[in-house]
Amino acid sequence: MENYVEGAWRPSTATETIPVMNPATGEELDRVPLSPAADIDAAARAAARAYPAWRRVPVTDRVQYLFKLKALLEQHFDDVARTITMEAGKTLAESRGEMRRAIENVEVACGAPIMIQGYNSEDIAAGIDEIMIRQPIGVCAVIAPFNFPGMIPFWFFPYAIAAGNTVLIKPSERVPLTMQKVFGLLDALELPRGVVNLVNGGREAVDAILDHPLIRTVSFVGSTSTALHVYSRGAAHGKRVQCQGGAKNPVVILPDADLAAASEIVADSAFGCAGQRCLASSFAITVADAAKPFAEAMQQRAKTRVTGYGLEEGVQMGPVITPESRARVEHLIDKAVREGARATVDGRNPDVKYKKGNFVAPTVLEDLPLASEVAATEIFGPVLSIHRANDIDEAIAVVNSGRYGNQASLFTSSGSSARKFRYEAEVGNVGINVGVAAPMAFFPFSGARESFFGDLHGQGRDAFEFFTQQKVVVERWPKAWSRKF
Ligand code: NAD
Repeated sequence: MENYVEGAWRPSTATETIPVMNPATGEELDRVPLSPAADIDAAARAAARAYPAWRRVPVTDRVQYLFKLKALLEQHFDDVARTITMEAGKTLAESRGEMRRAIENVEVACGAPIMIQGYNSEDIAAGIDEIMIRQPIGVCAVIAPFNFPGMIPFWFFPYAIAAGNTVLIKPSERVPLTMQKVFGLLDALELPRGVVNLVNGGREAVDAILDHPLIRTVSFVGSTSTALHVYSRGAAHGKRVQCQGGAKNPVVILPDADLAAASEIVADSAFGCAGQRCLASSFAITVADAAKPFAEAMQQRAKTRVTGYGLEEGVQMGPVITPESRARVEHLIDKAVREGARATVDGRNPDVKYKKGNFVAPTVLEDLPLASEVAATEIFGPVLSIHRANDIDEAIAVVNSGRYGNQASLFTSSGSSARKFRYEAEVGNVGINVGVAAPMAFFPFSGARESFFGDLHGQGRDAFEFFTQQKVVVERWPKAWSRKF
């Protein structure tokens, strides 16, 4: 597998490659190079060389490439979606959903001619005008996690290039094949050489990005511990950094909710993508009388969800990403049981025909003490723990007690409860009768507390803000200084 630098596929100078595995079948799909700092340097220099000419291309012309990219992505939609399923394990329907979200970002970035406008004010003093213009920044880096190999780079790079920047993308070394496909399409666009660059690798490549003097911005998505590392090391080098981190995503069920609908929606949120979504509900808090019927409904839904290879018809949930992830999730279930939980549905060692796959079936934990370690840990697998609260205030206090603040959802038929929840939940994304408050391209994908470090988010208006810098011009043109024609 090669990197894509300055308009061409180029071999990495890496001395080490690691296998890219199909997590459902255990088959090796390819090998990915762990590119060293020299490869990041080559890509950053290429992007920096391309920048002065690219920023001068009129924005109306820059977005034409994105219109073409949108058409190519539609044309190759199923091919890219299948690649996601093969390397990341999710079902084909989930992969298609992911690519739909990716394409929406291309569409929204096509609005750059309006979105990068500044503003002005005449006569801020007699005969003096003030203008704020937005300009691109330079070379922008994107560092992606494994769980959305298609969508997450799109939260950033279409906006970055539409605004006149050049980019360097480093996908997760566990799922590099999807970006190989996407860069095949980007190659067909015949963008000026060096506007988009791809470097495969792991930690060494990330640290080289953070330290590189030519890279001006870093957009990162991944676990909270890596996010903190990226945020602090990138900022220490004076870069503009936005980092999205881990999550727990509590969901509160009030007794006045439609419990049949709530349990169906929460099951999709908790077990969809095998619980490896940054918005996966992993922690349900039932209020008062909702406890028993909701727990019973969740048990039923967990038991009946079909786990298997995501390319096969009828499969509703795929594997987790690696054997290590599977071992970790199973270890956390063991630990939860030792900490006092009952595994009322136990997904350890499921009977799936692919014996080399990393399968964990849906799991429901009940009576896990709130003070336990597992209750505070991001499991990132198909595991839902169910807790109880006496009223909505107690439930909101639990929502606000954890370290993460990505998403919280409420299921209710009461408008005033919904408003109270929206008002008081200390999270970046709120779902009301919605289990995954999915990131839509025209809104920022928010996050709070240790789920996000930075101020401007990915997507929407925030993305145009992040990928431009403001310049303020104060002008005076007295008539006497101007030549008359
Ligand atoms: P990760 O932190 O292990 O890896 C993310 C990226 O950082 C990868 O490109 C990887 O190569 C690199 N990396 C890993 N360890 C590093 C280190 N020590 N130093 C420098 N670079 C390093 O995350 P992951 O396991 O790929 O993804 C899952 C995590 O991402 C979960 O915690 C999930 O909640 C989170 N996530 C968050 C969001 C969000 O929007 N908040 C979205 C998707 C995923």
